Order: sequence, then C-alpha cells, then structure tokens
Amino acid sequence: MENRLSEVAEGIWRATFALPLGIDHVHCYLLRSGQDGWIVVDTGLGLPEAEERWRSVLDRLGGRVERIVVTHFHPDHVGAAAPLAELTGAPVHQGELDYAQCLRTWGPERSPERFFAYMREHGMPADHGESMRVEGDQLSGWVRFATNPEPLEPGSQVDGWDLLHLPGHADGHLALLRDGVLIAGDALLATISPNVGLYADSRPDPLGDYLESLARIVELVPRIAFAGHGSVIPDPAGRARELIAHHSERLDATRAALDGSPRTAYDVSLVLFPDPLPRGLRRFALAETRAHLEYLALRDRALRVEDGGVTAYATA
Ligand SMILES: [Zn+2]
Repeated sequence: MENRLSEVAEGIWRATFALPLGIDHVHCYLLRSGQDGWIVVDTGLGLPEAEERWRSVLDRLGGRVERIVVTHFHPDHVGAAAPLAELTGAPVHQGELDYAQCLRTWGPERSPERFFAYMREHGMPADHGESMRVEGDQLSGWVRFATNPEPLEPGSQVDGWDLLHLPGHADGHLALLRDGVLIAGDALLATISPNVGLYADSRPDPLGDYLESLARIVELVPRIAFAGHGSVIPDPAGRARELIAHHSERLDATRAALDGSPRTAYDVSLVLFPDPLPRGLRRFALAETRAHLEYLALRDRALRVEDGGVTAYATA
C-alpha cells in the first residue's frame, strides 16, 4: 500500500499511510474548518518518516491545522500525534478515558509483565512471552502520543461536528458526525469486523458496549461513513446491522465451543479462529474470544471458573 491523498467528499480529505503491521494502511482525515483551516482526525503510526509524510500532505493542501483529534489510543491512530502537533503547532484533543488508557498502554505505566501475566491467566502458552515482549517494544517505539491533550467530551461539538462515544473496539472510542457524515475511526469498518477485545484494565463488557454502539449507528442512520481502514461505507446503518448479526453468530459459535469441562479463552480461540495465525494476531483472537465469553458469562449463558490463577469457561 502506498501513501495517498484524496478528496473523498466536499471539504473532506483522506490521507492514507502505509503501515508495517498486520493491516497494511491507515486512513487519517482532514476536515475543512472555516476558510483555510483544517481539523485533522487521527495521525497514523509514529514511524521515523511520520513527519515527512505529514509535511508532504500539508504542503499539498495548504492552510493551517487548527486542531488534531484522536479517535482512540491504538498505535495506528495516536502514534504520530506528538510529531504532528510539533509540525503544525496545533493542540491535540483526546477523550479523557482514552488518554488514561493511552498512558497505561504506552506511557510510563506501560507494563509488558502485566500484559503477559494477563494473557497467561487466560491460557496463552508461556513460550509466547518472548515474541510478545519483542513486538510490544517495537510497537511502543512507534507510538509518539501527545502528553496532556485537551480533553474531548462525548456529547459536545468540535467545529459543528457532534462527538459520539462509540465504545467497543476501544473503551473511549470517539467518532464525529455532521450532516449525516460519520468519521468513524475503527468503530465501523467496511469489510472486516473491528477487533473487540477484553484486556486487563478495560471496561468489563466491551462486546456489550460494542453492540450498543452499533445499535446507535443504526438509529442515527448516517448517510456515509469514512473509516480508519478500508473503503468508504455507503450504508453505515446496514453495515452496523451486518456486524450485529456477525457477533450474534460468533456468540453462538462461542457457546457451542464450551462443554462441562472448563476451557480457557486461549483454547476456545483455537476453535473459533482455527487457521494458523502469527502470534500477534493470536493474542487479538484470544482477547476477542474473551470478550465473547465474558459477554455470555455476564448474562448467565456461560460459567466463569477461576482456579489456581487461571480463568476458564464452561457451559452454564
Ligand atoms: Zn486502526
């Protein structure tokens, strides 16, 4: 995937940057503000070439960046916030809950040991530890978030755009909506199902949160959505309904993978995601499986069993 810049709607430009991750690109958006201003939504990964990439985008578009909005703290969205702020002199705006998680994940509170212990508690084999550490260190080097951002309040507005809290993919995930145009971040993606994972220190029921976010999109009936990855979404409510159906099938499959003897989220993930996966993706699969298992357990449709530092699930 090459870096690209295109106008996707009147006054909305999309900057696409290549990523050296499981997913090969990310989209950031520039929203026209007044005569010659811009609001930038999301910043890409903080790779060494991030400044250069942004400089070339801003040189082409001209005008002044008035503010930078971060939809959520994942590395491909928040990663270049600090260099972009430095390049433009614009303030960074981020939700408070999201920034707290950003600090825990990428800041001085970052703890690879705690993350590893969490994955172990849910059945991940010990020999994944080394790759987790190496990949985590590399990724964290690519996250240059901005410290002390201006807080964003869901329900308020940014330059006429309504700020929506659409948790699920990330607890504090924010999106922008104006005149039926949804700048969705990763709350809605055209062809893949956004990863909904349960991690240590996150809200207890991310799948429940996500299904509510999808129902909200169905209610709001945006005209079009521009997402963090993949193509434009011409029928966001229809896509939200597809994702609700997808998770309902996955919940059935999750229940079917359980029996009377407790199984860890890792073991259930091998049933739900049977194809061989690189270890990084296997961790996403584990977290996604755990979100489904916990959704069931919280509604008495599965039984959570905690024993000897290991958490497992069985039929209710
Ligand atoms: Zn993303």
